[in-house]
Amino acid sequence: MSSTVAFIGLGHMGGPMAANLVGAGHRVLGFDLLPDLLAAATATGVEPAESAAAAAAQAEVVVTMLPAGRHVLALYGEQGLLAAARPGTLFVDCSTIDVADARAAHEAVLAAGHRALDAPVSGGVVGAEAATLTFMAGGGAEEFAAAEPLLGAMGKKAVHCGGPGAGQAAKICNNMILAISMIGVSEAFVLADSLGLDHQALYDVASTASGQCWALTVNCPVPGPVPASPANRDYRPGFAAPLMAKDLGLAANALRAGGVEAPLGLKAAEMYAAFAAAEGADLDFSAIVRTLRPQNGNPV
Ligand code: NAD
Repeated sequence: MSSTVAFIGLGHMGGPMAANLVGAGHRVLGFDLLPDLLAAATATGVEPAESAAAAAAQAEVVVTMLPAGRHVLALYGEQGLLAAARPGTLFVDCSTIDVADARAAHEAVLAAGHRALDAPVSGGVVGAEAATLTFMAGGGAEEFAAAEPLLGAMGKKAVHCGGPGAGQAAKICNNMILAISMIGVSEAFVLADSLGLDHQALYDVASTASGQCWALTVNCPVPGPVPASPANRDYRPGFAAPLMAKDLGLAANALRAGGVEAPLGLKAAEMYAAFAAAEGADLDFSAIVRTLRPQNGNPV
């Protein structure tokens, strides 16, 4: 069944996601603060709205794809989105935001008489364009069921993770595993260098032994063993280091808020923040290996 969807935030991710909703037969009213992005979305069949509130006033579902929690909360509140929407509108926030902000967003949506789902994604811009994203959703079962046809038009998989904020929680837990394992794999290659062990030999053993993980066998941080990994194209992303740093910052916030002892997660957040602010700004997150050096100073 086709729906009328307000889509707010037509950037790297939101632009192609909105286009895929149009492609699946939905009416999409779009808005972004940047006129060029709104014009680009219009070319894909999105109907331009004068404001986010104007789009929401006509929609059954409002999808947001914004940079951070403060943007979502400001848009919902001060900028009048919740007030403009018809009662019972379903608000699906696909942005990656703080778990606490996601829960506050749910509360604001419910207090205004609407329905809410947090549904952050993994899969990057490539997944957004190809409609192969994975959605991690938090909220009620009815809200998840109502959103599923739309999520299915933008992605290949949607997992209902639990109540409000559970989607955001799943996203940061997964990315914390990924960051720690990428640093671990990178340290192992640097240690191999200092011991005179060949990269391919380490790969051949670890990829079929207990060291096996995605960071090794798909996104291998050194050139050679996995030809499709970003290391083979000067670490062009891929999954850019600043995005990993952002997600780890959210994980670190949640660790501190919950009083969780997680030294590796906090250390990974610190390392990626420093890397993303310096030489890693435009690189895939696997390039963190370049910051690790054996004692003799030779790069990997
Ligand atoms: P982006 O900066 O390209 O897009 C965000 C858009 O939101 C911008 O175009 C901006 O103008 C717009 N915006 C901000 N405030 C607005 C408002 N009040 N009203 C209307 N528009 C507004 O970012 P992106 O790369 O598309 O990422 C969006 C979200 O998805 C982020 O939370 C990010 O962490 C998450 N994410 C990104 C990727 C990725 O690979 N880029 C992958 C997974 C998740």
